[in-house]
Amino acid sequence: MRIVLINTEINRAFASINYETHKNIDEQYQFIKQTVLANETFTDDEKTEAIRRINKTYDHNKIFHNIGTKRICEICNCECLATLYCEYCIRNYLEKKFPNWTSGNNDIDNLIKKCQMETRRPDVVIEWIPYNNLQDIEYLTKGGFSEIYTAIWNNGKYQKWDSEEQHLKRFGGQKVILKRLEHVENANQRWFKEVCNLKLF
Ligand SMILES: [Zn+2]
Repeated sequence: MRIVLINTEINRAFASINYETHKNIDEQYQFIKQTVLANETFTDDEKTEAIRRINKTYDHNKIFHNIGTKRICEICNCECLATLYCEYCIRNYLEKKFPNWTSGNNDIDNLIKKCQMETRRPDVVIEWIPYNNLQDIEYLTKGGFSEIYTAIWNNGKYQKWDSEEQHLKRFGGQKVILKRLEHVENANQRWFKEVCNLKLF
């Protein structure tokens, strides 16, 4: 499959949007879809892949800017923005898992729970990772006041919402960066600030 060509075609369609004719995100989405599908050199598989990528970007933009057509989720009956998943179903799923994990620190647990209840994308979920879920931990450098390590996160992060099974899916191990917190008992406030300032998009 010609992924580079698909991306080029999608970028070309984005670049040729006339913002006076296609005023809102839904009209722009339809325009991009039609422009890319009009490329007769694409095979059916390439068209399907192109639409998948366009839909993903459309969802990201809707959720990020909190704009666009909403739909009623047939599972939870909430008005959600995403088309490939329902952000409320993801939050409900994460909430049901609250009893299954703990960092051992109530403040940290509550912050992670709060972040999870504001989840907007299946591939951007704040989680507690138990130490035994990390392997190949290696010292990398010293950054600011902390030591930085690399490691492999055995299960890897959530990547995708499975609408049929109604659960978040992981796709296996991935490399991660670890930051060692000195004097954890005093670091809570600073750590909280850092997490809260994280821009997830
Ligand atoms: Zn839902």
